[in-house]
Amino acid sequence: MRLADLSWPEVAEQAGMILALPVGATEQHGPHLPLSTDTDIAVALTERLAARRTDVVVAPPLAIGSSGEHAAFPGTLSIGRDVLKLALIELVRSARLSYDAVLLVSAHGGNAAPISAAVRQLRDEGHDVAVVAPRWEGDPHAGRAETSLMLALRPELVRIDRAVAGPTQSLTDLLPRLKAEGVRAVSESGVLGDPTGASAIEGNQLLAAITATMSDEVASWRMASP
Ligand SMILES: [Zn+2]
Repeated sequence: MRLADLSWPEVAEQAGMILALPVGATEQHGPHLPLSTDTDIAVALTERLAARRTDVVVAPPLAIGSSGEHAAFPGTLSIGRDVLKLALIELVRSARLSYDAVLLVSAHGGNAAPISAAVRQLRDEGHDVAVVAPRWEGDPHAGRAETSLMLALRPELVRIDRAVAGPTQSLTDLLPRLKAEGVRAVSESGVLGDPTGASAIEGNQLLAAITATMSDEVASWRMASP
């Protein structure tokens, strides 16, 4: 069920529902993946969660987040950490006028700190809000995992012939320079990891695994909620 498809009386008639907001980004994902990659993944995961739970309504995605570290690549749009934090605080306050609980589904690591800060403040204000931020092993950006996910979700947008490998060190090793100088300083292509071997089959397996973990997390959150 999508919020944007409903009329206001239909929302008013709902009871005990969770509004789930996909939080994505519009940022470079190497020469082979679209700028919408993180948003597409966040939307797909939120829709899969809604298919498993009858109490989840899918909000329109927040498609621009905090992506300053990718600013050196054309096409990247960012509202920065402070504005993202404030935007989420206002959005959740607003959503809570209609819904008992709000779930943020985040698919971009760069949004993690402002999302946590927003959730902390919102909880202090008494809002029932939670975040799920699916992660996968290794391969931090536009590598095998994200390429596989996009081959499963939007294959027509994957330019697989343009895929190249970037540095394959762990994100922990890359992070100091990446934070100081941006992604372009450590990867000319914008890829961190190696898309080689990516496939739609692997993407679908990953989607199923992430959805299962996310559903468990949401179930625990709802159990613990007042
Ligand atoms: Zn991404």
